[in-house]
Amino acid sequence: MSTEKESALLGFSLQQLTKLMEELGEPSYRGRQMFEAIYQGRVERIDDISTLPLTLRRRLVEKGLGIGQPEVQKRFVSSDGTVRYLLAMSDGQSVEAVLMPEGDGGEAGDGSEAGDSRETDPARNWDRATICISSQVGCAVDCQFCLTALLGVKRNLSGGEIAGQVCAVLQDQQVNPPQDRVNLVFMGMGEPFLNYENFMAAVRLLVDGVRIPESRMTVSTAGVVPRIADFGAEPVRPKLAISLNAPNDELRTRLMPLNRKWNLETLLAAAREFPLRARERLTFEYVLLDGVNDAPDHARELAERVRGIRAKINLIALNPGPGIGYGTPAAGRVMEFQSILMAKGIPTFIRRPRGRDIFAACGQLKGTVEALS
Ligand code: SAH
Repeated sequence: MSTEKESALLGFSLQQLTKLMEELGEPSYRGRQMFEAIYQGRVERIDDISTLPLTLRRRLVEKGLGIGQPEVQKRFVSSDGTVRYLLAMSDGQSVEAVLMPEGDGGEAGDGSEAGDSRETDPARNWDRATICISSQVGCAVDCQFCLTALLGVKRNLSGGEIAGQVCAVLQDQQVNPPQDRVNLVFMGMGEPFLNYENFMAAVRLLVDGVRIPESRMTVSTAGVVPRIADFGAEPVRPKLAISLNAPNDELRTRLMPLNRKWNLETLLAAAREFPLRARERLTFEYVLLDGVNDAPDHARELAERVRGIRAKINLIALNPGPGIGYGTPAAGRVMEFQSILMAKGIPTFIRRPRGRDIFAACGQLKGTVEALS
């Protein structure tokens, strides 16, 4: 990334790049060449677009254009293979992205192929990976167990900045979809449904440009109900996960203040109406907080509430962190919670914690790094 402020091309669609080329008096196929260089080649500089004539590259640079791929500011590799990135945008704001080799099994059971494995490059010791990306700098939703909430919301990311995180991580890891299998989760910092248009623009760039199939993508919302219906009507869309985290309004409002605006009844009504595709399942996420929402009675109450919805439940034992007033339940407690749900016929998975040794909790990397610097 250049230090001078450039206008980013990463974020432009094929149509927009084609129009740009035509406006410059260039043949329209140059638009596709740029599109492929940015999203498939993942070039970091216009100079590196070898398919364009040198004079054209120079003209683009002189117009103040640049690629705008986020810059890897920090990279932490965990003993479990997880890689956490702090990625800097052109204005210096940074967000987190995480690469998890082999996924964590949390994709299983939702009707996608994401849980299958495949033979691949023997030089790499994993054959598929999940990348988790951010949708906003910080977050406004204020969930009481989440570290990103402590940052507040700084700004929305643009579609290019959201898709650009994937480009930066793929580039860093030398991973190339569609040959290399990549799953994508919009579960990093921010609430995607409070930055809906940019989030959806990123999805389209990632499908058309980076060539990650929508069936390998999942977006998670804290429960911005009106957007759930909008999302269901999208012709191209990831799968949907909803962060439930509590089986009743009293508890949910305490943990997630946005429940005052959209309570469980309206949220679950939207979930029931959500138009699922063939073999698709909704995912409900449930962060288990020691002694707060993890009792057997909570599991039974939860099973009642989601009854009849074609969904699976992902249980996540809290990733603890500084400034979070909750603890992580013991493994036995998590398993008991799971077995109650399973006995009621609800497919329930326990997501294993990742990268605990590298500031694992959501939002913790940014906060920790900024506190140190
Ligand atoms: N705003 C969206 C997406 C980002 S959070 C949402 O709320 O769904 C992604 C997931 O991480 C959510 O299910 C959230 O409940 C969970 N989460 C947040 N903080 C966590 C923590 N400290 N430990 C474990 N999971 C956490």
